[in-house]
Amino acid sequence: MKTPPVVLSYHLIDRRFDFGITWVTPRQFERQMAWLAEAGYRTLSLSACLQPEFQLPPKAVVITFDDGYRALMKHVLPVLQRFGFVATVFPVAGFVGEQNRWDYNLFWRRMWHLDWNELRELLAAGWEVGSHSMRHAYLPALSREELLDDLARSREVFEQGLQIPIRHLSLPFGRGNVRVLECALQAGYESVATLGQEFDFENQTYVEVDTDGKHRELRLFFRRGIYLHDTLRGFRRHVEAPKDSRHERLRQRAISVFSYGTVMVKALRKRGSS
Ligand SMILES: [Zn+2]
Repeated sequence: MKTPPVVLSYHLIDRRFDFGITWVTPRQFERQMAWLAEAGYRTLSLSACLQPEFQLPPKAVVITFDDGYRALMKHVLPVLQRFGFVATVFPVAGFVGEQNRWDYNLFWRRMWHLDWNELRELLAAGWEVGSHSMRHAYLPALSREELLDDLARSREVFEQGLQIPIRHLSLPFGRGNVRVLECALQAGYESVATLGQEFDFENQTYVEVDTDGKHRELRLFFRRGIYLHDTLRGFRRHVEAPKDSRHERLRQRAISVFSYGTVMVKALRKRGSS
């Protein structure tokens, strides 16, 4: 079995106080990147990991950012450039260049998403862009038709807007189910990044066989989330923990349940008050 790469997941890197736990301060982030560089790590793209002849280097990580906040341009891009690192960003297709009206956790804080020019700037700096769906819906709650429409359309939005192939999908809230994977495959994605959720497929690959015997494969990347409460020592542990670390798995699951719980509570409250 191939060794999967360590894939780190960040959301918001910003200075101002935020209610959720899914943000990291610029200072914290810079120290984490400095440690990676000092320890001799290099960064990989998700696409590199999908190549058939890919061999995982001994010290390598994939860095990913969900949601595509504009603060990346100020607090992340210059830091990564200084260390010669690259990353993958997963913006929400329906909110490019707009404010975060989808985010219940940050609803009271108007924040901007990256616009098309900023996404092009990241591509020019060697980053990859994937999709984080059209509107950041909880995908397992959508019907098959809604799912297919959302996943195919968001991919198309980025392919047309950036003139590049879009190969990777990051699941909103990190969660999906087999139906989500089926639709992602049908919509043309080659990989799906989760958070706090693992599927039990051989080689982290979901395989579908067509009626004519043709195989189609979707690679799954189980990411390790980095959060505000992570000290530098904690960060090192997350990077160095073996893939099957029980502690790492339990931690991811707890955080994922917690952040999805917050979203649910706020969505229900909003519904109740409208
Ligand atoms: Zn997200």
